[in-house]
Amino acid sequence: MATGVESANLIALLRSVFGFAVFRAGQEAVCRAAIDGRDLLLVMPTGAGKSLCYQLPSIARGGTALVISPLIALMDDQAAKLTALGLKVARIHSGLDRGVARQACVDYLQGTLQFLFIAPERLRVPGFPEMLAKRKLALIAIDEAHCISQWGHDFRPDYRMLGQHLPGLRGEGDPTPVLALTATATPSVQADILAQLGMKKPVQFIHGFRRDNLAIEVVELPVPERAEAICSLLANPERRPAIVYATSRKNAEKLAEELSRTVSRGGAGRHSAKRIPAAAYHAGLDSETRERVQTAFQAGELEVVVATIAFGMGIDKADIRTVIHAGLPATLEGYYQEIGRAGRDGAPSRTYLMHSYADQKTHDFFLNRDYPPVEHLNQVHRALTDEPQQVEELRGAVRLGEEEFDKALEKLEIHGGARVDFGGNVTRGGTGWKKTYAIQAQYRAEQFEKVLRFTTSSECRMAALVRHFGDVEDASRACGICDVCDPAGAVLRQFRRPSPVDREIVQSIVDDLRPVDYKATGTLQRNLELGGRMSRNEFDSLLEAMVRAGLIEIEEAEFEKDGEVIRFRKVRLTERGLEVRPTTLLALLISDGIVEEFGSRGASAPPRARKSKASAARPGKKAEPEAGPVQLSAAGETLAARLREWRAAEAKRLGLPAYMVLNDRTISAVAQARPANPNQLLAVSGMGPGKMEKFGEAILGLCGGKE
Ligand code: ADP
Ligand code: MG
Ligand code: ZN
Repeated sequence: MATGVESANLIALLRSVFGFAVFRAGQEAVCRAAIDGRDLLLVMPTGAGKSLCYQLPSIARGGTALVISPLIALMDDQAAKLTALGLKVARIHSGLDRGVARQACVDYLQGTLQFLFIAPERLRVPGFPEMLAKRKLALIAIDEAHCISQWGHDFRPDYRMLGQHLPGLRGEGDPTPVLALTATATPSVQADILAQLGMKKPVQFIHGFRRDNLAIEVVELPVPERAEAICSLLANPERRPAIVYATSRKNAEKLAEELSRTVSRGGAGRHSAKRIPAAAYHAGLDSETRERVQTAFQAGELEVVVATIAFGMGIDKADIRTVIHAGLPATLEGYYQEIGRAGRDGAPSRTYLMHSYADQKTHDFFLNRDYPPVEHLNQVHRALTDEPQQVEELRGAVRLGEEEFDKALEKLEIHGGARVDFGGNVTRGGTGWKKTYAIQAQYRAEQFEKVLRFTTSSECRMAALVRHFGDVEDASRACGICDVCDPAGAVLRQFRRPSPVDREIVQSIVDDLRPVDYKATGTLQRNLELGGRMSRNEFDSLLEAMVRAGLIEIEEAEFEKDGEVIRFRKVRLTERGLEVRPTTLLALLISDGIVEEFGSRGASAPPRARKSKASAARPGKKAEPEAGPVQLSAAGETLAARLREWRAAEAKRLGLPAYMVLNDRTISAVAQARPANPNQLLAVSGMGPGKMEKFGEAILGLCGGKE
């Protein structure tokens, strides 16, 4: 076998066969391991270029690659691309007629095929695995490998059989390497894939999930206030093009309409007020309308699309500046895919996730709809026989509503309890469905729990996502630009400096925690006897601020009581927290609702708006995000130039883009304020505790006028 292939040779193959100039991040290492014959699991986001990671090694090794893929559309797409490159490719799936399959087998046995694509169920056909085993394969690639795991959201029972067929297909002696590829595998799914496929000393490549130019902002906002906040945000043309994910078709349409009535900012001096070009997109629209919306968005005629989850699969738009979730997504996987559509061009982009307690109820509703009670499935299963029945006939025999019936049958089919053939005939399947269905419904509920925890966590948002996808190593680095890392840079969510009362309570918290290892947040709150001084929500915001400032740590924990799992949060002091005395200078920024500019107006406004107003008078209120460039004095310009020079060096040292050290707006603001001490520097718009910690001393040194 071709081992130890030179870099130059790999690049030569990449160029001559695929026509690509360079490898993308991670591809070369994966190709090398595969060429060396290693079993491997590759987890990279959609669109990162996983296919190349089995295609190129297979060509380098010589012979035929067997590619197992769960969807006909995916297979056809890859096969068409490879054929267009002049490679010899065949597919075998149920959408093709028998002659094609027979020819594919003939070609395979003659050794003229470079790639053979099959659906997993093909391995159930008697004699087929034996036919494949007659030749030694170059490699076996399993695409969308998460389908093998019942923990994965697309579980396919047919994938489950792969494990038992692989040993025969890999052959004796120097076994053919197995490559498992997927974009979504949490650590438990990863472990399941390795075990199910019986991989030998597998190498795991998990990367590419971090997106350096996406700033994630999470905002708690009551449902009725979201539309207005979204309209004000997107009135600024710099925040468009944008995608807004709505929670229902009705909401998508309402919001698109409100946006279309909103006057776009900018365009000053013109007579006609330009509106925001927006449209709704959801599965309830006819395909012609959907096509039109998608094309117009792609072409830039529409600048905002308000969509349900159905939108975005087919779009390839690099300059999306904003993605807004007007409600909580069901899973972090879905959420990540959706925010990932922003900033494909690498330019800074922002994403907003709006949530409140009410979102949980909506989700319970969806969960019940998508995962109907087992009893529904039971009813359908009982009505099935070994004799094929027409679906309509079956529907008549089962006493369920039309949608309930469809959902139950769909679930039964997915979990192997029913078999539906191409003519729409249904027969009874196995009995294993009950177990896998229950596991999956449970898993789905847990997925949502994770979304909830993501919103309440005080960890860097990007780090939390990267960790969720299993890249533990990369998760130790904070992004520097999300609302947790850089609260002062938040656009929608507003932060304020602590009041004397806040400061007092911080001290009580520290004193209360000092003698103990940890306390539950609830106990802590009760001990402090906050009385009328602070609500539970305000207390939580204060704790969050203390986490960000590195004074305390909060850890999710649980215990069992009467067979019920009870979750709570443990708070403990950090070393820095231990040192806090009433005189200690603290860089605290407390979350305080949303920036007034985006909030509700009018007399009937809820308490939140009043709160915003109160905080507007506070000294720490940051400048309007849209504030134009500051006019600097000559001395200010000199300082700004010095700061930029320092920033360039610092960015280089840290290997970060310059705007992540300090953005231009902050540099101007610092140059204008010329802070003389940490407190003054912290009051500058754009300076958060994170930046203070990392760069405070250096910036103050530059401002200190050593002229
Ligand atoms: P996924 O990881 O989602 O399976 P694909 O393998 O389908 O992604 O690749 C996504 C796109 O990236 C394809 O159009 C592919 O041709 C392209 N691509 C992959 N590798 C490279 C490369 N090294 N240079 C340029 N384009 C590439
Ligand atoms: Mg793929
Ligand atoms: Zn961050």
